[in-house]
Amino acid sequence: MSDTEERKQVIMEFLQRPLLSVYDYAVDEIVRLRAENAALTAAVERVRELHVRVQGKYFPAFCEHCDSMSYPCDTIAALEGTP
Ligand SMILES: [Zn+2]
Repeated sequence: MSDTEERKQVIMEFLQRPLLSVYDYAVDEIVRLRAENAALTAAVERVRELHVRVQGKYFPAFCEHCDSMSYPCDTIAALEGTP
């Protein structure tokens, strides 16, 4: 579903509700989304802490966890959107 279609769907859902319940719904959604965002941010941070960059004097940087021969490793590249 595109953003525009989802916005239309949410607006239609709101129009079918009494005004006070729309506010309650919106507040509940904001609280839920903030908690979800915090959980996802913490999960990404845990992954980043696991995939540490190691730089040696005589070899290229690599990921300590993956033991790959380059950095960023596939996991960090995927998190950064540059696989
Ligand atoms: Zn890695």
